[in-house]
Amino acid sequence: MMASDPNCIFCKIVKGEIPSFKLYEDAETLAFMDINPVHDGHCLVIPKAHSATVFEIAPEDFAAAARTTAKLARAVKAAIPCDGFNLMQSNGEGAGQSVGHLHLHIVPRKSGDGLLFNWEPKPGERDRIAAIAERIRKLL
Ligand code: 5GP
Ligand code: ZN
Repeated sequence: MMASDPNCIFCKIVKGEIPSFKLYEDAETLAFMDINPVHDGHCLVIPKAHSATVFEIAPEDFAAAARTTAKLARAVKAAIPCDGFNLMQSNGEGAGQSVGHLHLHIVPRKSGDGLLFNWEPKPGERDRIAAIAERIRKLL
């Protein structure tokens, strides 16, 4: 039995309880248009099984969502004139996640569109980067 949350809006879309502009569906994943698009072509890919964030998701569900995202990205790129693409996936309130069912955004971009995905690169402190890398490696 696939995990489903009766209060989750994306689970309701999976079950067809609320409508969506569906793009693609397979056994593990669903792709549909975002209802508040930042640009034409903005769409979402979700695993059908409910998990809130990357911290809970089964790796195979994440892999399935990645496969569908790559497939969709090619079709959106062919359909929508754009200068580039961002794939975006937020985890937790602090990262701006507003729907608690893991999803990947496919966002077509235009040069100079001013969307705030891009930041000015500033060189970090090497010792600090190295120490943090060490901390993460120990937890893998
Ligand atoms: P987040 O902010 O969690 O990364 O993204 C949630 C996205 O889901 C937003 O871009 C929002 O527009 C979209 N969204 C929220 N509710 C619905 C809905 O009922 N239907 C569709 N198609 N998209 C939704
Ligand atoms: Zn859900």
